[in-house]
Amino acid sequence: MSSPRIAVVGTGVIGAMTAWRLALRGADVLAFDTHSPGHDRGASAGESRIFRTAYKEGPAYVPLLQRAREMWRELERSADARLLTMCGGLTIGAPDDPDVAAVRRCAEQQHLDHEVLGTAEARRRYPQHHLDEGEVMLLDPAAGVLRPEPAVQAALRAAESAGARVLPHHPVAEAVETSSGWRISSGGETFEVDHAIFAPGPWARGLEPLRQLPVQPRVITASWFAARDVAAHEPDALPIAIRRHPEAGFSCFPALDGASIKIIPHHLPRPDLDRPEDLPRGESPEWARAAGRAAERLLPGVVPHPIRIATYAEGFTPDEHALLGALPGSANATVLTGFSGHGFKLAPVFGEIGTDLALTGTTGHDIAHLAPERFAEAADVR
Ligand SMILES: Cc1cc2nc3c(=O)[nH]c(=O)nc-3n(C[C@H](O)[C@H](O)[C@H](O)COP(=O)(O)OP(=O)(O)OC[C@H]3O[C@@H](n4cnc5c(N)ncnc54)[C@H](O)[C@@H]3O)c2cc1C
Repeated sequence: MSSPRIAVVGTGVIGAMTAWRLALRGADVLAFDTHSPGHDRGASAGESRIFRTAYKEGPAYVPLLQRAREMWRELERSADARLLTMCGGLTIGAPDDPDVAAVRRCAEQQHLDHEVLGTAEARRRYPQHHLDEGEVMLLDPAAGVLRPEPAVQAALRAAESAGARVLPHHPVAEAVETSSGWRISSGGETFEVDHAIFAPGPWARGLEPLRQLPVQPRVITASWFAARDVAAHEPDALPIAIRRHPEAGFSCFPALDGASIKIIPHHLPRPDLDRPEDLPRGESPEWARAAGRAAERLLPGVVPHPIRIATYAEGFTPDEHALLGALPGSANATVLTGFSGHGFKLAPVFGEIGTDLALTGTTGHDIAHLAPERFAEAADVR
């Protein structure tokens, strides 16, 4: 029997990983993207990403995270790239903060290694963070920092080595279901395939077959602050962190550029976009001052004025869990989108799941909570 011909639409991290796994399993893969791999207009760029295992989003993710970690190492070996540094991860805040409590619950229920550091011990071990009296740190040793642009490149290199055809600067203008598969129009050509995998990130609503999916593009803004003592803020000294505080909150990434740490504030707005193309690129002085106040309050080792600010588009679902499964109402199509700000770390295993679904119609991974129909069912009940 000949290999199934499969189109992957979108080669951000999710499509790139899917193309890699499909090609390894012998599929004839065509992977399309409007832009070049590793570009900075979507969700898979910005120098660093958090990997963590004690997961506040729910214990159902833990087996997926553990499989993803193995696969990151496999990709590093296949593509000869350094992508994941296991520097550990902190969740910082009051012990009864919902996120701090959820991480602790997940670690305890799943029997994951972790440490709870009281205020004095936390201040002694990680003076890069300011702690108010009574705040704690939870240390997850199975956490680290990923490098997004090299990761996308590595996955596509591995996909090409396994036989995939990668087509940058090939926007898919039209995808139409046929009696035997899908007809994909791109770059002035049409491609007949047996199955289509849609991994368009925040562009989901721009593709006609995905128009009804509840994926809202939003802006996520990152900022970098110069470290006074850079060595104390590099990954061998500073874990990744999720900071919760009544006045501010952010994710925090150690210095990878030899100069500055990155924070992504959670307490500042993440505005909706009509389309990812409308992503604002200019920086707002109000936003810069607000991010600076958060750094001044909680990060004593940095100069509290951002030296770099960058915006990215990401697709959010109403419950902030991804859509992963057969495309509702269509045959021979799989959708992977709506990763809602936490898809990067899981991308290899999501690529494996997309491959399972396209080749066999099912997967051994538990992804019931990510079924795309869950929103359609809610609408029917109303
Ligand atoms: C600033 C920021 C910080 C984040 N931090 C973390 C973190 O620390 N840890 C974590 O796990 N996750 C994090 N996330 C989330 C994670 O990065 C995303 O969930 C993930 O990158 C989504 O990848 P994607 O492939 O779905 O989307 P994208 O990377 O946006 O890729 C979609 C691709 O599809 C292409 N495309 C769209 N439409 C078409 C078309 N019609 N034809 C051809 N190509 C098309 C686009 O050009 C694009 O390349 C963060 C996200 C952002 C934005």
